[in-house]
Amino acid sequence: MEDCIFCKIAKGDIPCEKIYEDEEILAFLDIAPVNIGHTLVIPKKHFKNIYETPDDTSAKMMLVAKKISTAIKALPSDGVNITMNNDPAAGQVVFHSHIHIIPRLENDGFGIWSSKRSYEEGEGEETARKITQGL
Ligand code: AMP
Ligand code: ZN
Repeated sequence: MEDCIFCKIAKGDIPCEKIYEDEEILAFLDIAPVNIGHTLVIPKKHFKNIYETPDDTSAKMMLVAKKISTAIKALPSDGVNITMNNDPAAGQVVFHSHIHIIPRLENDGFGIWSSKRSYEEGEGEETARKITQGL
């Protein structure tokens, strides 16, 4: 897709620090890492986010994410977050499907769940019902 920065990276028009590549998937270092080694896994074809990415492509992205998460243990890291931002409210800024692999260090201060809450009486049951209806 024209004007998509990740399509340009996939085509080789914009450079990246490549971590992994096969016919369908590319992984490269995030240019602004939360921690050193923060890696993005993308499909080479343009899909906007998780909703538009075909299931087999999503599955391949996750397999590559697992492979890289294991290899990232070569870096100073005490754990790893695998995340995907879908739509602006969830923090998606680049609208080409991608998984973040974020190496974590003890006490690195990156608060991914800074605002947890609880359910009111019956609210959990009602919420589960609404979600399962859509499966
Ligand atoms: P998101 O907020 O999930 O859309 O994340 C987009 C990510 O892409 C951010 O973490 C950016 O730092 C990263 N990013 C943007 N441009 C580049 C680039 N040219 N090379 C590598 N990473 C990039
Ligand atoms: Zn794209």
